Amino acid sequence: MLTDLKPQPADKILALMQAFREDPRENKIDLGVGVYKNAEGVTPVMRAVKAAEQRLVETQETKAYTGLAGDPAYAAAMRGLILSDSVDAGRVAAVATPGGTGAIRQGLELMQYADRAATIWLSAPTWPNHPSIVKYLGIPMREYRYLASDLPVVDFDGMMEDLKGVKAGDLVLLHGCCHNPTGANLTAEQWAVVADHLEATGAIPFIDIAYQGFGDGLEEDAYGVRLLAARMPEMIVAASCSKNFGVYRERTGLLMAIAPEQKSKAEAQATLNFLNRQNYSFPPDHGARVVQMILDDPELRADWQTELEDVRLGMLKLREQLARELRNRTNSDRFDFIAEHRGMFSRLGATPAQVEVLREKYGIYMIGDSRINIAGLNEATVPIVAQAIAVEIG
Ligand code: PLP
Repeated sequence: MLTDLKPQPADKILALMQAFREDPRENKIDLGVGVYKNAEGVTPVMRAVKAAEQRLVETQETKAYTGLAGDPAYAAAMRGLILSDSVDAGRVAAVATPGGTGAIRQGLELMQYADRAATIWLSAPTWPNHPSIVKYLGIPMREYRYLASDLPVVDFDGMMEDLKGVKAGDLVLLHGCCHNPTGANLTAEQWAVVADHLEATGAIPFIDIAYQGFGDGLEEDAYGVRLLAARMPEMIVAASCSKNFGVYRERTGLLMAIAPEQKSKAEAQATLNFLNRQNYSFPPDHGARVVQMILDDPELRADWQTELEDVRLGMLKLREQLARELRNRTNSDRFDFIAEHRGMFSRLGATPAQVEVLREKYGIYMIGDSRINIAGLNEATVPIVAQAIAVEIG
């Protein structure tokens, strides 16, 4: 059996991380990997997470299994954080999952289990793991235009034109906020147009929300998902706590399925529990419990929100600095979009050859499609990166 296996194509992002580690240059700059880093290049454990973990060590009396859906208090706290009061909680089925990736996987499995003929629509471009998992599961897939070909802004007309092809029961995957990899996001008006279209066609939104609090703020970043939750009879939401709680390796995610009414919610809940059972039985608990403790404790929650807001504002400042430096160095507004984008990522619009030159000549690492992680910068490296971009791309 094992001798029949074929080599796996290298994961581009992981290969880039490896190349960065092996690069002996001291002044190398990593704008590739998608984790938050502070000005010292560290991905810190957040203060509230440390405090909750300490409390947990002192108070936890058992490591016995939780339920198949995980701790209901975690699901309730996360539902509140993401959906607030936009939808009746009695319609929301939820299971804890290993990270946001686990939530996406379980959401797709739910879709496949319910309706083998349904198609999932993905933005072009999107996070590469989306099409990868969809293809692995053999789910029919279509793409809709998202980024304009000439400008790094949302091609909303193109998107709506392509989404004319959706059929009732199809799922449309939308990034809740901070679109990865583009950093270009829908406006409130555009979310409303999308909601109208999905309502009219009977297609179902599948929201991936992995960066709540990294864009315009915790509440602001939930605008689209809450608007749709309030209006749509059915919806899937896959959430990740990796970034906004900084608990990457704890694998902390949540899948919610919003049903039209309580009866179908009970069936959705039973099916989600069943799917967890088939794949890994009980979901991981540590990260989920820490997140729940933070969200349900006013003091820990306030401290978490303060630190998260500092992270968000820090990235915004770097965006503004980089756009300003590029404006000065290129004498053009070509890169002004960097300050308009939100979240950790923006795409520079460079060719793969230019991306390679930046890596070879300057030790500046980014993904081949020219996606940069803003959090990989700091005040001191922005001018260096801006100069290299201005010379090689500007
Ligand atoms: N969705 C998007 C768009 C992401 O960028 C990520 C992580 O990079 C995830 C989901 C899931 O993250 P995780 O599985 O680490 O929670």
